[in-house]
Amino acid sequence: MQVDRPSGVSHLAGQVFSDRTSVLVCENSQVQLRILSEAVRDAGYEVHTASNAEDALTLLNLMPIDIFLTGIEVGTTSGLEACWLLKSNPETETVYTIVVTASGQEKRLEESLDAGADDFIRKPVNMTELRARLRAATRLVRMQKQFRHMAETDALTGAANRRAFMQYLDTLVDRARRQDAPLAAVMVDLDHFKRTNDTYGHAVGDKVLVQTVRQVQACLRDCDMLGRLGGEEFAVVLPGATAASAVAAAERIREAIAAVDVRVDNGDRIPVTASLGVAVLEGDKMMETAEGLLHAADEALYAAKAGGRNRVVEAASCREDAPVRAAG
Ligand code: GH3
Ligand code: MG
Ligand code: MG
Repeated sequence: MQVDRPSGVSHLAGQVFSDRTSVLVCENSQVQLRILSEAVRDAGYEVHTASNAEDALTLLNLMPIDIFLTGIEVGTTSGLEACWLLKSNPETETVYTIVVTASGQEKRLEESLDAGADDFIRKPVNMTELRARLRAATRLVRMQKQFRHMAETDALTGAANRRAFMQYLDTLVDRARRQDAPLAAVMVDLDHFKRTNDTYGHAVGDKVLVQTVRQVQACLRDCDMLGRLGGEEFAVVLPGATAASAVAAAERIREAIAAVDVRVDNGDRIPVTASLGVAVLEGDKMMETAEGLLHAADEALYAAKAGGRNRVVEAASCREDAPVRAAG
């Protein structure tokens, strides 16, 4: 099942960001819109256009836009209101905004900056100046993306860190409830990992963690996310997955981890396996919280450990009498 990633969530399960900066140009005059968008496209940017602020805001909530270049008089909602709306929404607050002001609108410059515009450019637009301002904006946008990536990523493995994972899971749980769509979480814990460290050393243990993440990520769709919750403990969220498809996905993950190939100096391959617990938000479990879902997956994981490790256990099979958690 193809599921869209909610907007505003930047972490693509460890994938790298696109290098191309995207610019949304908003102008109500078709001539002006064409001139500006062509200049921006010629400067090498990915360009999107809107002829009013309402359409611009819709696009901004649907797709990853880096820079918003807007006139002031752009429909019922002004360009300044659009900037203010962007900056007051956590999902779009990092969009860099440049307001294009007409002559006679000098008083509105202060208003533009107060509304959250990051920069402004005067009409008639000097294209050399526009390109220079876009380059400056791009430097800031890239820096911001790097900081955000660092804040959301586990440095050793490149998986999402706990905070980013929990944030994504919360977003997905809310969306699953609103759309009455299933959602699954899988807890993954490497088996006897302490033994791996004790036998082969911490550096080799680190290699196993790195390869584990690479192997698991190769099994995932763009909308799934792998998070390192701590140590040798990971979680995967699978939007749209029913119990049957989540168990099948967990089984593929288990096999991918068992295929991790880290060797010691004498060529011996280190045994790597994991135990997995699966919990699904569907049917009468629809009111479960993100924490409740992970807790159920964790209980299933412990059942997998108790059952002999290197296996997948689904929550329903180990906690049939468990109470349904209310949304908190
Ligand atoms: P079980 O099958 O019951 O899960 O046993 P286990 O040995 O995997 O579990 P335990 O919780 O006893 O040990 C986890 C080990 O993971 C202990 C710790 O040293 C190791 N570990 C945690 N973080 C890292 C890391 O970043 N790198 C390495 N190499 N080891 C780590
Ligand atoms: Mg373990
Ligand atoms: Mg553990």
